[in-house]
Amino acid sequence: MAVQALYALQNGFFGFERSGLFYDERSGEKTQIVVTCYLVKTSDGTILFDTGLAPRAVPGLLRTDPLARFSDDDLLVHRLDSIGLEPGSVDAVVLSHLHFDHAGGASLFPKSELIVQQDEYAYAHHPASFFASFYYQKNFDLPGYRWRLLDGDTELVPGVTVLRTDGHTPGHQSLLVELPGAGPVILAGDCAYWQEHIDKERVPGVVWNPTLALHSLKRLKTLARLTRGRIFPSHDPVFWQTLKKAPDAYR
Ligand SMILES: [Zn+2]
Repeated sequence: MAVQALYALQNGFFGFERSGLFYDERSGEKTQIVVTCYLVKTSDGTILFDTGLAPRAVPGLLRTDPLARFSDDDLLVHRLDSIGLEPGSVDAVVLSHLHFDHAGGASLFPKSELIVQQDEYAYAHHPASFFASFYYQKNFDLPGYRWRLLDGDTELVPGVTVLRTDGHTPGHQSLLVELPGAGPVILAGDCAYWQEHIDKERVPGVVWNPTLALHSLKRLKTLARLTRGRIFPSHDPVFWQTLKKAPDAYR
């Protein structure tokens, strides 16, 4: 097995409306959510899943959002440093999608391959007006970078497989990581914000196509059942407390 370790990296917290969390809720009440990235070490290279918030967006967030929390340690470069890595040693960056809290750090990786679904890449450059505020062009308008555009499920290296999970956005993707000891882990990205989305099959409130989002969530649950794997949601502050955090790792 080529996979060696999976590290969970926290990239701050911010406030989010209940109506944005759950498709069938109308409450504007805000709750604090965590921003997560994951680093996968394999014998074939180092793969980062998601890049969190853009460092340049943090001061504004802290000024305007009373639920925002972001320390120096939370910077992605410092999280990588805590496990002995720098951006230049990351071979590939898998972006679940190009929303601002997942693609914000992409510009830190000019040497890495940036891996996204081609439908996501196209849509992010020309989003519908209802979705435009989630796509900050500056985050992914990086023409000199090494973009690799996928069309569907793709095995990147043995034990690390991109799973297409449309719905939240037109080209959303999740990542299956087959750990030798800890077993399979599916990094859901925004296919599942919270554990509750998985358990109760709830669709995110921020959504491009709720029916597809539900189908993708069910597909991840089926895969997790068949592989006896676990699903890690993207933004759950309670689930985050239960995780082993970097520099500790799942192996
Ligand atoms: Zn999103």
